[in-house]
Amino acid sequence: MQGLLNDWRRTNYASECTPEIAGSDITIMGWVHEIRDFGGIMFVIIRDVTGRVQVTAPSKKVDEKIMEELREFRKESVVAIKGLVQEAGKAPNGVEIIPKEVKVLNLANQPLPMDPTEKVKAGIDTRLDSRFLDIRKENVSAIFKIKGQMFHTIRDYFYDNGFYEINTPKLVASATEGGTELFPITYFEKEAFLGQSPQLYKQMMMAAGMDKVFEIGQIFRAEEHDTLRHLNEAVSIDAEASFADDEDVMKILNDMLINVLKDVNENCADELAVLGHELEVPKGDFPVVTYDEAVDIVNSKDVPMEWGEDLSREAEKALGDTMGGFYFLTRWPSEIKPFYVMPVEGEEQYSHAFDLMYNNLELSSGATRVHQYDLLVKQIEERGLNPAGFGSYLKAFEYGMPPHAGWGVGADRLTMVLTGAENIRECVLFPRDRHRLTP
Ligand code: ATP
Ligand code: MG
Repeated sequence: MQGLLNDWRRTNYASECTPEIAGSDITIMGWVHEIRDFGGIMFVIIRDVTGRVQVTAPSKKVDEKIMEELREFRKESVVAIKGLVQEAGKAPNGVEIIPKEVKVLNLANQPLPMDPTEKVKAGIDTRLDSRFLDIRKENVSAIFKIKGQMFHTIRDYFYDNGFYEINTPKLVASATEGGTELFPITYFEKEAFLGQSPQLYKQMMMAAGMDKVFEIGQIFRAEEHDTLRHLNEAVSIDAEASFADDEDVMKILNDMLINVLKDVNENCADELAVLGHELEVPKGDFPVVTYDEAVDIVNSKDVPMEWGEDLSREAEKALGDTMGGFYFLTRWPSEIKPFYVMPVEGEEQYSHAFDLMYNNLELSSGATRVHQYDLLVKQIEERGLNPAGFGSYLKAFEYGMPPHAGWGVGADRLTMVLTGAENIRECVLFPRDRHRLTP
């Protein structure tokens, strides 16, 4: 059978082909990025997950049989090449490989549905339709390498700081916040929904005595609007801590993000360079602006906003222009926050809720939570919801719920900040929006 690996194995990645290994025989494996055939000499650029390396085949030095095999290569096919590494000033990494044996592992059909070398630029829809080819581009895979580093640092941070990782159900019986942004599904003979947030479950874990928990998982929102920062399926990084308040968990969030920025700068310098993106690590704590101050700032920019309204898109932009970078927005009006948010004692129109913003993009919402059963029931009722629908959640508040606080960060939105992407679709492998359910 053709195209089998058999006893062939890669000895070196493209990035490992450097002048230091000149003179060695190696085996490389990857995709045919480019073929240039000048008759007497052929150049083939091979690309793998680490980068590119040049195969140079002068007909004087290379067997005619191998020249023939190289001529059968097609762009984006998967190939393996055994050959001798030689110094070559002009080639990528300063080396070229003189082939001794070649093997086509899988030939790519031609023409390709899109050009991963970007000689022909494709629009986002064409790219997403052939996402596997699109991700072969280094400016696209760079985004996911950075996103991977982000999750790595975040998990390390949580584990280093005594958080337990949890997984909560995504098939749920009722709405988290009684909102309308829910996807109903058929669950045998019952109606159920896709979870819009792990909020209620992570709070129940506080009553379970786990003290500090985090979850990285999918959230589903039936957002009808088509924006550059909303998807219908997103990944949320959720944290909840017992015996803590809003200020404590803001500190954790601040600290964690500084670690992410530092690690991405340190470990993803090549990816940032490919994207032409620079990441500034803020010194000290993120600035804080209160909701009241935000209303004044927004109005001073001639964007109308009444006290008690959520920030419109225009308001977010006006505020982002003034604040810039990362900043917390605190002391939100209670009436526009969910029932589980703790009001400020004696000033109940304000709450212990905060958002973390980056310029005009909301990255996170968090709060001190209500841990007292009676207050929780009262706040559920005040929002026109029926406490009976929250039975199993409310039960956790009757038998020893500690004071607690937490937040949720949109992982895909944070990736936008880390990579400079302006469209959230760029930061999700297979995005789900109003118009897209495949691939
Ligand atoms: P927005 O006001 O921007 O629609 P939200 O306030 O509805 O966001 P939250 O319920 O506070 O969102 O969710 C916490 C975080 O999850 C948000 O700050 C955001 O980073 C992320 N997030 C929420 N909804 C989406 C979505 N539809 N697509 C991508 N990320 C989202
Ligand atoms: Mg929010």
